[in-house]
Amino acid sequence: MTMHKGGCFCGTVAIEVRGLPEAMGYCHCGSCRAWSAAPVNAFTLWKPENVKVTKGADFVAQFMKTKMSGRQFCAKCGGHLMADHPPLGLVDVYAATIPTLAFRPAIHVNYAETVLPMKDGLPKLKDFPAELGGSGVALPE
Ligand SMILES: [Zn+2]
Ligand SMILES: [Zn+2]
Repeated sequence: MTMHKGGCFCGTVAIEVRGLPEAMGYCHCGSCRAWSAAPVNAFTLWKPENVKVTKGADFVAQFMKTKMSGRQFCAKCGGHLMADHPPLGLVDVYAATIPTLAFRPAIHVNYAETVLPMKDGLPKLKDFPAELGGSGVALPE
């Protein structure tokens, strides 16, 4: 089983992910943008049992603006770690948090809100896939 290590900006918090992510892609929503201070969020979605905090758990802080996302970060350095999505039963470990994982995006979500169009030939969903409660509507690049 493959394993990747990651952590926060200062190194106080360390995490491990095991196995393979359930999905990888880019989110273009305004919330990801405001939280990450970046034009898109490169996400990798994992089953919660495959994600472990191995060091510095006391420093993992969480901010929940909505019930959909528990955004987790290091309370010491402010470095972002991951976002728990309880309604989906999945955790988004930001691709940048686990640098040794080969990031292979397959989809763009919330593309209706994009500020950084990406012409990469991948499907572009207006919001979320239908199976995750979205419209499932695809948009042109
Ligand atoms: Zn830190
Ligand atoms: Zn988003």
